[in-house]
Amino acid sequence: MRVDTLTVGMFQSNCFVVSCGKTKKGLVIDAGDEGDRIVEHVEGLGLKIEMIIATHGHIDHVAALPDLASAFSVPIGMHENELPVYQNIRQQAALFGLEPPGIVEIGKFLSDGDTITVGELTGEVIHTPGHSPGGISISFAEENPPAIFAGDVLFRGSIGRTDLMGASSRQMFDTLKTVFLKLPDDVVVYSGHGPETTIGFERRTNPFLLEASQWGL
Ligand SMILES: [Zn+2]
Ligand SMILES: [Zn+2]
Repeated sequence: MRVDTLTVGMFQSNCFVVSCGKTKKGLVIDAGDEGDRIVEHVEGLGLKIEMIIATHGHIDHVAALPDLASAFSVPIGMHENELPVYQNIRQQAALFGLEPPGIVEIGKFLSDGDTITVGELTGEVIHTPGHSPGGISISFAEENPPAIFAGDVLFRGSIGRTDLMGASSRQMFDTLKTVFLKLPDDVVVYSGHGPETTIGFERRTNPFLLEASQWGL
C-alpha cells in the first residue's frame, strides 16, 4: 500500500491518495480543497481511481468533491448519518465567511463493517462518531504496517472537536475506547490534520486516550 498525503486549503486538512502498487488502482480519502492539485497528483501517479471517500462532511474534507467527481466517474462514499452535516455546507461556509463549495450526489452510503477493495488492498469501514454523527474511519488491518485513516477523530496528541453540529463527547469517548484503544500498537494513524502517528504512541502519551481508557468504568 502506498499513501500520498496532500495537505490542502486554508484548514490544512490532509487528503490521502491510497494506492495498490501492483494494480495501480487508487482511492482518494477526504478531498478537502485544491481539487486540481489532487487530480494532477493522481494523474502523475498513473492511478485508476476506484472510489472517493469522505470520512465526514465538514467543509475542510469535502470542498473539492465537485472537482474530483468531474475528473473521475466513480462513486463518492460517505456514511448516511453524515448527510445532514454535508447538506448544511452553506452554513458551514458562512461560519468562516467562505463561498460555499458545490455539493455532489453521494453515490454510495458506507456502513460499519463494509469492505473497501482497491486492487489487492482490502479496507474496512468503521463507524466512528463523536466529532460528527456519521464519521467513519477506514482500517487497512492486513497491511504491514497496518493503517487507519481516522478523519478528525484522533490526532497526534489530541482529538477532534465535539462542539460542532451533531457532535457528542460521549460518543467520542465511546469511539476512542471501543475502536481506537482496541487496535494494536503498530497501527499507523493517518489523521485529518497534522502528522501521522501510531496507536502505541497515542496510547502512551495522548491525554484524551488515557481519559478514554477510564471511560465508562
Ligand atoms: Zn471535521
Ligand atoms: Zn477537519
